[in-house]
Parts: sequence; C-alpha cells; structure tokens
Amino acid sequence: MTSLLPVLHAGSGPAAAQEAVRFGETTLTYAQLAAASDALAERLTGAGRVAVWATPTAETVVAVVAALRAGVPAVPLNPKIGTHELAHIVADSAPSVVLAGAGDVLPPVLAAVDRKDVDTAAAAPDGVVFPEPSPESPALIVYTSGTTGPPKGAILPRRAIAASLDALADAWQWTGDDVLVHALPLFHVHGLILGVLGPLRLGGSVRHLGRFSTEGVARELSSGATMLFGVPTMYHRIAEALGTAAPAAAELAEALAGARLLVSGSAALPVHDHERIAAATGRRVIERYGMTETLMNTGVRADGEPRPGTVGAPLRGVELRLVEEDGTPLDDPTADGAVGEIQVRGPNLFAGYLNRPDATAAAFAEDGWFRTGDMAALDADGYVRIVGRKATDLIKSGGYKIGAGEIENALLDHPGVREAAVTGEPDPDLGERIVAWVVPADPAAPPTEAELADHVAEQLAPHKRPRTVRYLKALPRNDMGKIMKRSLGA
Ligand code: ATP
Ligand code: MG
Repeated sequence: MTSLLPVLHAGSGPAAAQEAVRFGETTLTYAQLAAASDALAERLTGAGRVAVWATPTAETVVAVVAALRAGVPAVPLNPKIGTHELAHIVADSAPSVVLAGAGDVLPPVLAAVDRKDVDTAAAAPDGVVFPEPSPESPALIVYTSGTTGPPKGAILPRRAIAASLDALADAWQWTGDDVLVHALPLFHVHGLILGVLGPLRLGGSVRHLGRFSTEGVARELSSGATMLFGVPTMYHRIAEALGTAAPAAAELAEALAGARLLVSGSAALPVHDHERIAAATGRRVIERYGMTETLMNTGVRADGEPRPGTVGAPLRGVELRLVEEDGTPLDDPTADGAVGEIQVRGPNLFAGYLNRPDATAAAFAEDGWFRTGDMAALDADGYVRIVGRKATDLIKSGGYKIGAGEIENALLDHPGVREAAVTGEPDPDLGERIVAWVVPADPAAPPTEAELADHVAEQLAPHKRPRTVRYLKALPRNDMGKIMKRSLGA
C-alpha cells in the first residue's frame, strides 16, 4: 500500500476531470475533491482527533478525506443519534475539532469543540506537502452500531482499510470503471469505507441518493451506475416494489437486471427477499459479512455462486475458523449440524477499541484470533452460513442449540408475515423458549399462533416451532435497519 487514496492524490492524471462523488445537484470531480480536501487538511495539521458531522453530503466526504490527508484520525458522528449516545461518543473520543457543513446546526454537546466549516469549492493550497502517514497510524475511529450494547470506538489503521478494500476489489472485480449507487449513512463502515473510500481508492465514482428510494435506484442503475450496496431493509423494499403491478416495478426490474453487482451486508438478507428479487430480475444479490472491528471477512465473489443464506467464503488475506464454546477449533466444521463461533485473523483487523483495554483484550483469543461473537456453519465448499449472534440469536431450548435466523426465514416465508424476529426467553422446562415477534402483512387478519408454529415445524423441525407469537406494528431497528433484539428483551 502506498497512499490510501492513490487516484485522488495522483495530481493531474486522467482521473482529475472525472466525477468522484455526486450528492443530488452537487458533484465533485477528483480534482475538485483533492483541492477542497487539501485546503481543509492544511487547517487540520496538528489537530488531535477530528469529529465529522457525517450528514449524507459532499461536505462529509471532503471532511473525511481532509483528515486522512492531514494524518489525523477522523471520528464520523451520526447526526441523527440521540443526545445520550452522542454525549457518550463525544466524551469517549474527545475530538479537538469538529467539521461540519456551513448550514449544519450542531447540538450543545459539541459547543465546546472548535468548529471548522467545510468548503467544497475551496481552491488547492499552494506548496503544501502532506507526509504520508504510516500504515499503522489510525485513520478512522468508527463506533460500532450499538446493536448489543453501547457503541465502542474501533480504531482502524490505514493498513486495515486498504487491505479490506483491496480484498473486495479482488473478489468483485471492482475497478475505477464502476459507478456505485449509495443510499447508506456515512458514519459506519458500510457507507463510509466501502461506499465512499472504496470507489475513491479505485478511481470510480459514487452517486448518493440522500434518502433511499427504489425510484432512485432504478434511475441511477439505468443511467450508467454499475453497482448497488445496500442493507437488507433496502432489498426488502426492492422486493416489495418488484411485487407490484405498477409500471415502475418493470422499470426497477430492468434496471436491476442490468447492474453488474448487487451487494447486501450489515445484517442477514432474508432468503425470502433474495428469492423474490431473483425471480423478478434474474439477478442474485451477493452477500458479504463484516464488522466495524474487522472490516470485511467474507463475501461471494462476482464470478461466484450467490447462495441464499450464505455470506460467501473468506476474502483474500482473511483466515477464518469456527470454534467450540471453550475456544477449541471444531474438528470437522463442515460436518452436518456443526456450528461454532467465527474467529478471524488478517490484515483487515482493527487496532483495538478506544479507551477500552478490557474490551480489546476480551475480544481476542489467547492465540491472537479475533472473536466475532457470530455463530456460523460451513458449507462443504467453504461458504459461511451465519446462524446469528452468540449473545442474542442462539436459543438453547430442550437440549438443542437453535439459531434464530432459520426460524426467521421460515416465518418470513409465510404469506401472512411481513417482518419477523425470533428470541429466546427463560422457560422452566425447556431452558429457553422460542418466541416469535411478527409484523403481520395484514394487521386486520394476522396468522394465528398455531398456524405459524405449524408452518415452522413443517419447514424446519418440530423442536424449532415458536411457543409464543407476539404481534407488533414494526420491529425496533437502528439506523442501519438492524433489528434491536435488546429492545425485545433478548
Ligand atoms: P455492536 O457491536 O455495537 O453491538 P454491531 O455488532 O451491530 O453493534 P457492526 O460492527 O456494525 O455493529 O455490525 C457487525 C455485525 O453485523 C456482525 O458481527 C454480524 O452480526 C452482523 N452482520 C454483518 N454483515 C452480516 C451479514 N451479511 N449477515 C449476517 N450478519 C451480518
Ligand atoms: Mg458488534
């Protein structure tokens, strides 16, 4: 690895006039992005950590690139986060500067931090030379999604970001010719590192929709964009839109059919949505699996076989093993019914949690492998099948270990179910009892508890039937669309 963003800083090469990012009416070419970020970087030299008010705008891209250029760690902040969580992140990361768009109103918790406004039209400074930071220096501090507890700040060195993006480029034949459709927030790994730094590292371009819409996806994919990165809730909306008789459904199907790559990640893509999209478009969504701490671990390759319910094989440079509860590797991880916790090792790993030596130590096994907390099975050809999180998705019932994910997939396959989540609750007889949380397709006529239990028992096995069904209007989700099982008592 030389520079993290080699194309951007190549000066006046052929890419200079090419569009780098587009946010609505605002576009920046590579030359404009380099000029604006260098101008800002000059104002950041000597800063400590730099917080970025990460709205989905070109300002955020300029701010993050400027921090990378100046060699100061950037901490992207979720502008929609609750005051309590924001106060935790600000206190924990202690930024010396906050970067924001000129029109942004910052909350009181940031009042004491030196604010600098981002100017996306700034001219390149004269004669400034930015030294290239070392590969191990922290580039970004990204907070985890807070799905299982308060968010933790993962320190991501340049080395990890470069390694993970290059492994994805290898798997997806991802090049500077690709144009990405993007509708994710810019304060997590998915939207910021894969969705922005990925294209910028490779010399491609990004078109951000601001807000996700199936119309926006159809428009961009039918006018030059080649790939879409999304979370499962977006693919769910795509699957629903494809199922209607409106002319827009046919346009969407055609646009998706023409895309080079449709990628889903951040949470499991329900099999039902995968199948519906494949049926309507002839295209299969590719899944990849990663974490804030590890960046990307596995993925289906562009020329590989997307298999619903799997997240592909380990990416280049990533070692992956499944371990028993006591930490010993599974004897035969591909044996029928074998499930273990995923541990990984590789150049894609973070450098620890900020201010959390205890959590950092606990995250690594004695022999240095990272404990993901995710449980999985392995197909014979090395494809990883995620069963769920050890803490919330593994239900120990009647002597069985049952993954919530397969029951959720079975429930979603029932025509009367729109959304489903499965948790375990203490039970005097079974240890834990399977509880299904269901959003009915028609709230006026929800499927009965017995009907759903029988449906699951038929599809899977009798001991996997939910004992209790609870009906909700919507599932509690965070801003990545991940189901917050904590709020369901898991
Ligand atoms: P926190 O660590 O704060 O509780 P989080 O784990 O949701 O939150 P992230 O780092 O954003 O924070 O998410 C990583 C997790 O997301 C993984 O550990 C895994 O459980 C889940 N995940 C990511 N991609 C996939 C996928 N393709 N299929 C299933 N699960 C996935
Ligand atoms: Mg996590």
